[in-house]
Amino acid sequence: MDWDWSEEQELMRQSLRDYVRDKVTPNVLAWEAAGEVPRSLFADLAELGVLGLRLSPEYGGGGQDFWFTVVLLEELVRCGSIGVPVTVMAHAEFATMLIDRYGSPALRETYVRGAAEGRLIGALGVSEPDAGSDVAALRTRAVRDGDEYVIDGSKLYISNGTIADYITLAVRTGGAGAHGVSMIVVPGDSRGLQRRRLRKLGTHASDTAELFFENCRVPAANLLGTGNDGFGMIMSGFEGERLVLSVMACSHARLMFDEAREWGHSRRAFGQALLGFQVWQHRLADVLTRIEAAEALTRRGVDLYVRGRPAQSEISMAKLFATETARYTATECAQIQGGLGYMEECLMGRLHRDALAMTIGAGSSEIMRGLIARANNLVAR
Ligand SMILES: Cc1cc2nc3c(=O)[nH]c(=O)nc-3n(C[C@H](O)[C@H](O)[C@H](O)COP(=O)(O)OP(=O)(O)OC[C@H]3O[C@@H](n4cnc5c(N)ncnc54)[C@H](O)[C@@H]3O)c2cc1C
Repeated sequence: MDWDWSEEQELMRQSLRDYVRDKVTPNVLAWEAAGEVPRSLFADLAELGVLGLRLSPEYGGGGQDFWFTVVLLEELVRCGSIGVPVTVMAHAEFATMLIDRYGSPALRETYVRGAAEGRLIGALGVSEPDAGSDVAALRTRAVRDGDEYVIDGSKLYISNGTIADYITLAVRTGGAGAHGVSMIVVPGDSRGLQRRRLRKLGTHASDTAELFFENCRVPAANLLGTGNDGFGMIMSGFEGERLVLSVMACSHARLMFDEAREWGHSRRAFGQALLGFQVWQHRLADVLTRIEAAEALTRRGVDLYVRGRPAQSEISMAKLFATETARYTATECAQIQGGLGYMEECLMGRLHRDALAMTIGAGSSEIMRGLIARANNLVAR
Protein backbone atom coordinates (compact mmCIF):
# COMPACT_ATOMS: atom_id res chain seq x y z
CA MET A 1 0.00 0.00 0.00
CA ASP A 2 1.23 3.44 -0.85
CA TRP A 3 2.18 5.26 2.39
CA ASP A 4 5.06 7.25 3.87
CA TRP A 5 6.64 4.32 5.64
CA SER A 6 9.12 5.06 8.41
CA GLU A 7 12.65 3.67 8.36
CA GLU A 8 11.66 1.27 11.15
CA GLN A 9 8.72 0.01 9.09
CA GLU A 10 10.91 -0.39 5.99
CA LEU A 11 13.46 -2.40 7.97
CA MET A 12 10.71 -4.59 9.37
CA ARG A 13 9.33 -5.09 5.86
CA GLN A 14 12.70 -6.16 4.52
CA SER A 15 13.41 -8.70 7.25
CA LEU A 16 9.89 -10.09 6.88
CA ARG A 17 10.22 -10.28 3.11
CA ASP A 18 13.41 -12.31 3.44
CA TYR A 19 11.86 -14.57 6.07
CA VAL A 20 8.67 -15.18 4.06
CA ARG A 21 10.64 -15.90 0.87
CA ASP A 22 13.06 -18.32 2.56
CA LYS A 23 11.04 -19.96 5.32
CA VAL A 24 7.33 -19.63 4.54
CA THR A 25 6.73 -19.72 0.77
CA PRO A 26 8.69 -22.97 0.22
CA ASN A 27 6.52 -24.69 2.87
CA VAL A 28 3.01 -23.48 2.18
CA LEU A 29 1.94 -26.48 0.12
CA ALA A 30 2.95 -28.80 2.96
CA TRP A 31 1.16 -26.61 5.51
CA GLU A 32 -1.97 -26.53 3.36
CA ALA A 33 -1.90 -30.32 3.13
CA ALA A 34 -1.46 -30.55 6.92
CA GLY A 35 -4.35 -28.11 7.52
CA GLU A 36 -2.25 -26.04 9.92
CA VAL A 37 0.98 -24.10 10.24
CA PRO A 38 3.77 -25.42 12.50
CA ARG A 39 4.28 -23.90 15.95
CA SER A 40 7.74 -22.83 14.80
CA LEU A 41 6.09 -20.13 12.64
CA PHE A 42 4.89 -18.37 15.80
CA ALA A 43 8.30 -18.72 17.45
CA ASP A 44 10.06 -17.36 14.36
CA LEU A 45 7.75 -14.35 14.08
CA ALA A 46 8.24 -13.65 17.79
CA GLU A 47 11.99 -13.84 17.24
CA LEU A 48 11.66 -11.30 14.42
CA GLY A 49 9.72 -9.08 16.85
CA VAL A 50 6.55 -8.99 14.74
CA LEU A 51 4.17 -11.42 16.44
CA GLY A 52 2.68 -9.20 19.13
CA LEU A 53 3.07 -5.91 17.31
CA ARG A 54 0.07 -4.20 18.89
CA LEU A 55 0.29 -5.91 22.29
CA SER A 56 1.46 -4.01 25.38
CA PRO A 57 5.24 -3.67 25.77
CA GLU A 58 5.01 -4.42 29.53
CA TYR A 59 3.77 -7.90 28.58
CA GLY A 60 6.25 -8.52 25.78
CA GLY A 61 4.35 -6.84 22.93
CA GLY A 62 5.61 -4.26 20.47
CA GLY A 63 3.27 -1.42 21.45
CA GLN A 64 3.12 -0.38 17.79
CA ASP A 65 0.25 1.18 15.90
CA PHE A 66 -1.78 -0.52 13.16
CA TRP A 67 0.54 0.61 10.34
CA PHE A 68 3.05 -2.00 11.51
CA THR A 69 0.31 -4.63 11.22
CA VAL A 70 -0.25 -3.43 7.65
CA VAL A 71 3.42 -4.14 6.87
CA LEU A 72 3.21 -7.57 8.53
CA LEU A 73 0.09 -8.51 6.56
CA GLU A 74 1.39 -7.26 3.22
CA GLU A 75 4.50 -9.37 3.59
CA LEU A 76 2.77 -12.50 4.92
CA VAL A 77 0.26 -12.47 2.07
CA ARG A 78 3.16 -12.73 -0.39
CA CYS A 79 3.63 -16.37 0.65
CA GLY A 80 0.60 -17.16 -1.54
CA SER A 81 -1.42 -19.00 1.12
CA ILE A 82 -3.96 -16.74 2.80
CA GLY A 83 -4.40 -19.26 5.61
CA VAL A 84 -0.98 -18.18 6.93
CA PRO A 85 -1.86 -14.52 7.68
CA VAL A 86 -5.31 -15.64 8.88
CA THR A 87 -3.65 -17.91 11.46
CA VAL A 88 -1.30 -15.21 12.70
CA MET A 89 -4.05 -12.60 12.94
CA ALA A 90 -6.53 -14.93 14.68
CA HIS A 91 -3.85 -15.42 17.29
CA ALA A 92 -2.23 -12.02 17.79
CA GLU A 93 -5.08 -9.69 16.90
CA PHE A 94 -8.42 -11.41 17.38
CA ALA A 95 -7.74 -13.64 20.40
CA THR A 96 -5.12 -11.69 22.31
CA MET A 97 -5.93 -7.99 21.89
CA LEU A 98 -9.08 -8.46 24.00
CA ILE A 99 -7.11 -10.10 26.82
CA ASP A 100 -4.57 -7.31 26.68
CA ARG A 101 -7.30 -4.68 26.75
CA TYR A 102 -9.65 -6.17 29.37
CA GLY A 103 -7.76 -8.92 31.23
CA SER A 104 -6.36 -8.83 34.77
CA PRO A 105 -2.58 -8.38 35.21
CA ALA A 106 -2.29 -12.13 35.91
CA LEU A 107 -4.14 -13.05 32.71
CA ARG A 108 -2.05 -10.62 30.69
CA GLU A 109 1.16 -11.96 32.21
CA THR A 110 0.23 -15.51 31.18
CA TYR A 111 -1.55 -15.09 27.89
CA VAL A 112 -0.39 -11.80 26.40
CA ARG A 113 3.25 -12.54 27.20
CA GLY A 114 2.89 -16.15 26.05
CA ALA A 115 1.28 -14.95 22.81
CA ALA A 116 3.87 -12.28 22.08
CA GLU A 117 6.70 -14.74 22.70
CA GLY A 118 5.13 -17.33 20.42
CA ARG A 119 4.88 -19.91 23.22
CA LEU A 120 1.07 -19.97 23.34
CA ILE A 121 -1.38 -19.91 20.44
CA GLY A 122 -4.74 -18.19 20.77
CA ALA A 123 -8.18 -18.40 19.17
CA LEU A 124 -11.26 -16.20 19.43
CA GLY A 125 -14.49 -18.13 19.94
CA VAL A 126 -17.61 -16.10 19.28
CA SER A 127 -19.63 -17.72 16.44
CA GLU A 128 -22.01 -20.58 17.16
CA PRO A 129 -24.20 -22.88 15.08
CA ASP A 130 -27.20 -20.59 15.75
CA ALA A 131 -25.43 -17.26 16.22
CA GLY A 132 -23.07 -15.88 13.58
CA SER A 133 -23.82 -12.36 12.39
CA ASP A 134 -26.25 -12.01 15.28
CA VAL A 135 -23.63 -12.19 18.03
CA ALA A 136 -26.09 -11.21 20.76
CA ALA A 137 -28.01 -14.46 20.13
CA LEU A 138 -25.15 -16.67 21.34
CA ARG A 139 -26.18 -19.47 23.69
CA THR A 140 -23.02 -21.06 25.13
CA ARG A 141 -23.63 -20.65 28.85
CA ALA A 142 -21.19 -20.07 31.69
CA VAL A 143 -22.58 -20.51 35.21
CA ARG A 144 -20.62 -19.43 38.28
CA ASP A 145 -19.89 -22.23 40.75
CA GLY A 146 -17.60 -21.08 43.58
CA ASP A 147 -14.23 -20.10 42.11
CA GLU A 148 -15.09 -21.46 38.68
CA TYR A 149 -17.38 -21.01 35.73
CA VAL A 150 -19.00 -24.11 34.26
CA ILE A 151 -19.36 -23.81 30.49
CA ASP A 152 -21.78 -25.73 28.26
CA GLY A 153 -22.42 -25.15 24.57
CA SER A 154 -20.56 -25.09 21.27
CA LYS A 155 -18.72 -22.78 18.87
CA LEU A 156 -18.40 -23.03 15.11
CA TYR A 157 -15.85 -21.90 12.46
CA ILE A 158 -13.18 -20.98 15.02
CA SER A 159 -9.81 -20.12 13.43
CA ASN A 160 -6.94 -21.84 15.31
CA GLY A 161 -9.63 -23.75 17.22
CA THR A 162 -7.78 -27.08 17.16
CA ILE A 163 -4.25 -25.79 17.69
CA ALA A 164 -5.04 -23.10 20.28
CA ASP A 165 -3.55 -23.16 23.80
CA TYR A 166 -6.24 -20.73 24.92
CA ILE A 167 -9.59 -19.60 23.59
CA THR A 168 -10.95 -16.12 24.26
CA LEU A 169 -14.53 -17.26 24.51
CA ALA A 170 -17.84 -15.40 24.33
CA VAL A 171 -20.34 -16.89 26.78
CA ARG A 172 -23.74 -16.08 28.18
CA THR A 173 -23.54 -15.28 31.89
CA GLY A 174 -26.72 -13.21 32.11
CA GLY A 175 -30.12 -12.93 30.44
CA ALA A 176 -30.95 -12.85 26.75
CA GLY A 177 -29.44 -10.29 24.39
CA ALA A 178 -26.27 -8.25 24.29
CA HIS A 179 -26.26 -7.42 28.01
CA GLY A 180 -25.87 -11.03 29.11
CA VAL A 181 -22.61 -11.73 27.24
CA SER A 182 -19.19 -12.10 28.88
CA MET A 183 -15.70 -12.97 27.68
CA ILE A 184 -13.62 -15.61 29.43
CA VAL A 185 -10.25 -17.20 28.67
CA VAL A 186 -10.50 -20.98 28.37
CA PRO A 187 -7.20 -22.91 28.63
CA GLY A 188 -6.87 -25.38 25.78
CA ASP A 189 -6.31 -28.31 28.15
CA SER A 190 -9.55 -27.71 30.10
CA ARG A 191 -11.52 -30.86 30.80
CA GLY A 192 -14.86 -30.88 29.05
CA LEU A 193 -13.51 -29.13 25.93
CA GLN A 194 -13.52 -31.11 22.70
CA ARG A 195 -12.53 -29.94 19.23
CA ARG A 196 -13.15 -31.07 15.69
CA ARG A 197 -11.30 -29.69 12.69
CA LEU A 198 -13.49 -28.52 9.79
CA ARG A 199 -12.70 -28.94 6.09
CA LYS A 200 -12.99 -25.75 4.06
CA LEU A 201 -13.02 -24.68 0.43
CA GLY A 202 -9.90 -22.56 0.91
CA THR A 203 -7.42 -21.00 3.38
CA HIS A 204 -6.26 -24.58 3.99
CA ALA A 205 -3.22 -23.66 6.08
CA SER A 206 -5.57 -22.08 8.61
CA ASP A 207 -6.94 -24.53 11.15
CA THR A 208 -10.70 -24.00 11.60
CA ALA A 209 -12.67 -25.91 14.20
CA GLU A 210 -15.91 -26.68 15.91
CA LEU A 211 -15.60 -26.57 19.72
CA PHE A 212 -17.78 -28.43 22.21
CA PHE A 213 -18.02 -27.52 25.90
CA GLU A 214 -19.60 -29.96 28.31
CA ASN A 215 -19.36 -29.24 32.01
CA CYS A 216 -16.10 -27.44 31.19
CA ARG A 217 -14.69 -25.79 34.33
CA VAL A 218 -12.62 -22.63 34.02
CA PRO A 219 -11.25 -20.44 36.87
CA ALA A 220 -13.55 -17.47 37.56
CA ALA A 221 -10.39 -15.32 37.53
CA ASN A 222 -10.21 -15.95 33.76
CA LEU A 223 -13.17 -13.64 33.17
CA LEU A 224 -12.33 -10.48 31.22
CA GLY A 225 -13.80 -7.33 32.76
CA THR A 226 -16.51 -7.56 35.39
CA GLY A 227 -19.08 -9.80 33.69
CA ASN A 228 -22.00 -9.17 31.31
CA ASP A 229 -19.83 -6.57 29.56
CA GLY A 230 -18.50 -8.85 26.80
CA PHE A 231 -20.64 -7.62 23.92
CA GLY A 232 -18.96 -4.20 23.99
CA MET A 233 -15.57 -5.94 24.09
CA ILE A 234 -16.38 -7.96 20.98
CA MET A 235 -17.60 -4.82 19.21
CA SER A 236 -14.47 -2.91 20.26
CA GLY A 237 -12.34 -5.58 18.60
CA PHE A 238 -14.29 -5.50 15.34
CA GLU A 239 -12.71 -2.33 13.93
CA GLY A 240 -9.21 -3.82 14.10
CA GLU A 241 -10.44 -7.17 12.76
CA ARG A 242 -12.20 -5.51 9.83
CA LEU A 243 -9.11 -3.50 8.98
CA VAL A 244 -7.07 -6.72 9.09
CA LEU A 245 -9.47 -8.23 6.55
CA SER A 246 -9.36 -5.06 4.42
CA VAL A 247 -5.55 -4.99 4.28
CA MET A 248 -5.35 -8.71 3.66
CA ALA A 249 -7.89 -8.45 0.83
CA CYS A 250 -6.01 -5.58 -0.85
CA SER A 251 -2.68 -7.43 -0.68
CA HIS A 252 -4.32 -10.63 -1.86
CA ALA A 253 -5.89 -8.80 -4.82
CA ARG A 254 -2.53 -7.19 -5.72
CA LEU A 255 -0.85 -10.58 -5.73
CA MET A 256 -3.51 -11.99 -8.06
CA PHE A 257 -3.28 -8.97 -10.33
CA ASP A 258 0.52 -9.29 -10.56
CA GLU A 259 0.16 -12.96 -11.49
CA ALA A 260 -2.47 -12.20 -14.11
CA ARG A 261 -0.46 -9.38 -15.69
CA GLU A 262 2.62 -11.58 -15.94
CA TRP A 263 0.54 -14.34 -17.49
CA GLY A 264 -1.08 -11.90 -19.88
CA HIS A 265 2.35 -10.95 -21.21
CA SER A 266 3.76 -14.46 -21.46
CA ARG A 267 0.81 -16.63 -22.57
CA ARG A 268 0.18 -16.61 -26.30
CA ALA A 269 -3.00 -17.49 -28.18
CA PHE A 270 -3.85 -17.00 -31.85
CA GLY A 271 -0.36 -15.69 -32.53
CA GLN A 272 -0.12 -13.01 -29.84
CA ALA A 273 0.21 -12.43 -26.09
CA LEU A 274 -3.14 -12.37 -24.26
CA LEU A 275 -2.48 -8.72 -23.41
CA GLY A 276 -2.42 -8.08 -27.14
CA PHE A 277 -6.22 -8.48 -26.97
CA GLN A 278 -7.90 -5.26 -25.90
CA VAL A 279 -10.49 -7.20 -23.93
CA TRP A 280 -7.76 -8.30 -21.47
CA GLN A 281 -6.14 -4.89 -21.33
CA HIS A 282 -9.51 -3.46 -20.32
CA ARG A 283 -10.44 -6.21 -17.89
CA LEU A 284 -7.15 -5.91 -16.03
CA ALA A 285 -7.42 -2.11 -16.14
CA ASP A 286 -10.78 -2.46 -14.37
CA VAL A 287 -9.24 -4.84 -11.84
CA LEU A 288 -6.37 -2.48 -11.08
CA THR A 289 -8.71 0.50 -10.74
CA ARG A 290 -10.80 -1.37 -8.19
CA ILE A 291 -7.72 -2.48 -6.26
CA GLU A 292 -6.46 1.10 -6.09
CA ALA A 293 -9.87 2.26 -4.87
CA ALA A 294 -9.94 -0.51 -2.24
CA GLU A 295 -6.46 0.49 -1.08
CA ALA A 296 -7.49 4.15 -0.84
CA LEU A 297 -10.51 3.27 1.32
CA THR A 298 -8.41 0.97 3.48
CA ARG A 299 -5.68 3.56 3.89
CA ARG A 300 -8.29 6.07 5.02
CA GLY A 301 -9.76 3.60 7.51
CA VAL A 302 -6.34 2.76 8.97
CA ASP A 303 -5.37 6.42 9.20
CA LEU A 304 -8.55 7.35 11.10
CA TYR A 305 -8.23 4.30 13.34
CA VAL A 306 -4.59 5.00 14.20
CA ARG A 307 -5.46 8.60 15.03
CA GLY A 308 -8.27 7.42 17.30
CA ARG A 309 -10.99 9.11 15.25
CA PRO A 310 -14.49 7.64 14.84
CA ALA A 311 -14.27 5.45 11.76
CA GLN A 312 -17.02 2.86 11.85
CA SER A 313 -18.49 3.93 8.53
CA GLU A 314 -15.11 4.22 6.77
CA ILE A 315 -13.86 0.90 8.14
CA SER A 316 -17.09 -0.84 7.13
CA MET A 317 -16.75 0.62 3.61
CA ALA A 318 -13.12 -0.52 3.44
CA LYS A 319 -13.98 -4.03 4.60
CA LEU A 320 -16.95 -4.29 2.24
CA PHE A 321 -15.18 -2.94 -0.83
CA ALA A 322 -11.76 -4.56 -0.31
CA THR A 323 -13.09 -8.07 0.34
CA GLU A 324 -15.61 -7.87 -2.53
CA THR A 325 -12.75 -6.59 -4.72
CA ALA A 326 -10.60 -9.58 -3.79
CA ARG A 327 -13.44 -11.91 -4.84
CA TYR A 328 -13.95 -10.07 -8.12
CA THR A 329 -10.21 -9.94 -8.77
CA ALA A 330 -9.97 -13.67 -8.13
CA THR A 331 -12.63 -14.40 -10.75
CA GLU A 332 -11.06 -12.10 -13.36
CA CYS A 333 -7.47 -13.13 -12.76
CA ALA A 334 -8.27 -16.86 -12.69
CA GLN A 335 -10.13 -16.47 -15.99
CA ILE A 336 -7.10 -15.08 -17.84
CA GLN A 337 -5.14 -18.15 -16.75
CA GLY A 338 -7.68 -20.47 -18.35
CA GLY A 339 -7.50 -24.06 -17.02
CA LEU A 340 -4.42 -23.24 -14.97
CA GLY A 341 -6.40 -20.80 -12.82
CA TYR A 342 -8.56 -23.71 -11.65
CA MET A 343 -5.67 -25.95 -10.60
CA GLU A 344 -4.76 -26.58 -6.96
CA GLU A 345 -1.05 -26.81 -7.85
CA CYS A 346 -1.10 -23.32 -9.35
CA LEU A 347 -0.71 -20.19 -7.21
CA MET A 348 -3.61 -18.45 -8.94
CA GLY A 349 -5.89 -21.45 -8.42
CA ARG A 350 -5.22 -21.39 -4.67
CA LEU A 351 -5.52 -17.60 -4.40
CA HIS A 352 -8.80 -17.92 -6.30
CA ARG A 353 -10.48 -20.18 -3.71
CA ASP A 354 -8.85 -18.36 -0.78
CA ALA A 355 -10.71 -15.18 -1.77
CA LEU A 356 -14.11 -16.60 -0.87
CA ALA A 357 -14.16 -16.37 2.94
CA MET A 358 -13.17 -12.74 3.39
CA THR A 359 -16.63 -11.39 2.58
CA ILE A 360 -18.04 -13.53 5.42
CA GLY A 361 -15.70 -13.34 8.44
CA ALA A 362 -15.52 -10.39 10.87
CA GLY A 363 -18.93 -9.21 9.69
CA SER A 364 -20.27 -10.17 6.28
CA SER A 365 -20.77 -7.79 3.35
CA GLU A 366 -24.47 -7.59 4.20
CA ILE A 367 -23.67 -6.59 7.80
CA MET A 368 -21.17 -3.97 6.50
CA ARG A 369 -23.86 -2.48 4.24
CA GLY A 370 -26.22 -2.32 7.22
CA LEU A 371 -23.62 -0.46 9.30
CA ILE A 372 -22.89 1.96 6.45
CA ALA A 373 -26.62 2.57 6.01
CA ARG A 374 -27.12 3.28 9.72
CA ALA A 375 -24.07 5.55 9.96
CA ASN A 376 -25.15 7.60 6.96
CA ASN A 377 -28.84 8.19 7.65
CA LEU A 378 -30.00 5.64 5.07
CA VAL A 379 -32.56 3.90 7.26
CA ALA A 380 -36.15 5.04 6.73
CA ARG A 381 -37.38 7.13 9.66
C1 LIG B 1 -12.91 -19.23 7.38
C2 LIG B 1 -13.69 -18.67 8.52
C3 LIG B 1 -13.04 -18.37 9.71
C4 LIG B 1 -13.76 -17.90 10.79
N1 LIG B 1 -13.11 -17.64 11.99
C5 LIG B 1 -13.83 -17.28 13.08
C6 LIG B 1 -13.19 -17.12 14.35
O1 LIG B 1 -11.97 -17.25 14.48
N2 LIG B 1 -13.97 -16.84 15.43
C7 LIG B 1 -15.32 -16.68 15.33
O2 LIG B 1 -15.95 -16.42 16.34
N3 LIG B 1 -15.96 -16.81 14.13
C8 LIG B 1 -15.24 -17.12 13.02
N4 LIG B 1 -15.88 -17.26 11.80
C9 LIG B 1 -17.32 -17.13 11.74
C10 LIG B 1 -17.79 -15.85 11.04
O3 LIG B 1 -17.59 -14.75 11.88
C11 LIG B 1 -19.28 -16.08 10.70
O4 LIG B 1 -19.32 -17.07 9.68
C12 LIG B 1 -19.95 -14.80 10.24
O5 LIG B 1 -20.12 -13.93 11.32
C13 LIG B 1 -21.33 -15.11 9.62
O6 LIG B 1 -22.08 -15.89 10.48
P1 LIG B 1 -22.81 -17.20 9.90
O7 LIG B 1 -21.83 -18.01 9.15
O8 LIG B 1 -23.52 -17.86 11.05
O9 LIG B 1 -23.86 -16.67 8.88
P2 LIG B 1 -25.27 -16.00 9.23
O10 LIG B 1 -25.12 -14.97 10.26
O11 LIG B 1 -26.27 -17.07 9.46
O12 LIG B 1 -25.59 -15.30 7.85
C14 LIG B 1 -25.96 -16.03 6.69
C15 LIG B 1 -26.17 -15.04 5.55
O13 LIG B 1 -27.20 -14.11 5.92
C16 LIG B 1 -26.71 -12.80 5.84
N5 LIG B 1 -27.29 -11.98 6.91
C17 LIG B 1 -27.21 -12.18 8.25
N6 LIG B 1 -27.83 -11.19 8.90
C18 LIG B 1 -28.28 -10.32 7.95
C19 LIG B 1 -28.99 -9.10 7.98
N7 LIG B 1 -29.30 -8.50 9.14
N8 LIG B 1 -29.31 -8.50 6.80
C20 LIG B 1 -28.97 -9.08 5.62
N9 LIG B 1 -28.29 -10.24 5.51
C21 LIG B 1 -27.96 -10.86 6.67
C22 LIG B 1 -25.21 -12.90 6.01
O14 LIG B 1 -24.55 -11.80 5.46
C23 LIG B 1 -24.92 -14.19 5.27
O15 LIG B 1 -24.84 -13.91 3.91
C24 LIG B 1 -15.16 -17.70 10.69
C25 LIG B 1 -15.81 -17.98 9.48
C26 LIG B 1 -15.09 -18.45 8.40
C27 LIG B 1 -15.82 -18.76 7.13
